[in-house]
Amino acid sequence: MVVPSLLEPLLHGTPMARRRAMAKAITLLESTRADHRAQGDALLTELLAHTGRALRLGISGVPGVGKSTFIEALGLYLIAQGLKVAVLAIDPSSTVSGGSILGDKTRMEQLASQEHAYIRPSPSSGTLGGVAEKTREAILVCEAAGYDVVIVETVGVGQSETAAHGMTDMFCVLQLPNAGDDLQAIKKGVMELADLVVVNKADIDPRAAIRTRTQITSSLRIMAMQGNPKHAQNDPQRWHPKVVTISALKGEGVQDFWAAVSEYRRLQSANGELAARRERQALAWMWERIDAGLRSAFRQHPAVRQLLPQLQADVVAGRIAASTAARNLLAAQAGQAPQAIR
Ligand code: GDP
Repeated sequence: MVVPSLLEPLLHGTPMARRRAMAKAITLLESTRADHRAQGDALLTELLAHTGRALRLGISGVPGVGKSTFIEALGLYLIAQGLKVAVLAIDPSSTVSGGSILGDKTRMEQLASQEHAYIRPSPSSGTLGGVAEKTREAILVCEAAGYDVVIVETVGVGQSETAAHGMTDMFCVLQLPNAGDDLQAIKKGVMELADLVVVNKADIDPRAAIRTRTQITSSLRIMAMQGNPKHAQNDPQRWHPKVVTISALKGEGVQDFWAAVSEYRRLQSANGELAARRERQALAWMWERIDAGLRSAFRQHPAVRQLLPQLQADVVAGRIAASTAARNLLAAQAGQAPQAIR
């Protein structure tokens, strides 16, 4: 059995033995083989009692904004404080391109060489749902191995941010210090997810960085007035999204960033919001996986496979309504006679 041989070093091993066991455990969880999946599920069940203590931190931003520079500076800062730091990534493009984040071995070289750091590139499992599932499971592995902070890095494009937001306690968005960029991000809805906005590269033009901070702060206030519950109340017991400026390259502002994160954690733990967020995430994850499983079983059902090509063609050609086709396919899967189509 793989599981006991992984559990012992993962929970109690030396830092190096733990990292090796983590890598093996995550590889096992990423495997699509049915027997591996069963072992992976058994492992997760064993690990679960040892999870939940880490802070799960999402970090997002467009390529080039400075994510890896910042995560390295932050990671080194946290390790100097005696904490253990894991970095995971969600990069759906990694299936095609071999990865635009964390694929390059030279990234975060200093952090990677630390005994108390663990860095893992994005899984490449095809769909975003698949990648997200593997990353969620990897978070549990890191937590069980005693990591205090688990960073989930994601590119600031597409749905990967929503996925990262859905598995972290706090979601941070990195921004560049130029006007307009903030508005664009708001349009994409990313700002609505942000618990903390980080204006990076403040060293290039400190005044522009401060201007951007002011602009984003007022954008966040406008969103609050427009009724986003996250920003809405002026309750001092609740966290309200903030903006900090940093220079990841010079390591400036990392301390302020961490102070904001700590304040977030203190407030949201005390008011119960952190626990509630995790509960919502766990249930959403379960339902997301049920949906994916049902969909996949549906597509493989013989009656569905037989009917699907023709019905798809009929829908595309406008011969039957999409809703009618869906009802017929569902009926076929349930073993019922198809309804009258034409
Ligand atoms: P990522 O694609 O978001 O991971 O961005 P990187 O961390 O790879 O950074 C992209 C480029 O921006 C690199 O050349 C970095 O050296 C540079 N960079 C990152 N942070 C800063 C910063 O605070 N100031 C300046 N001047 N350059 C930075």
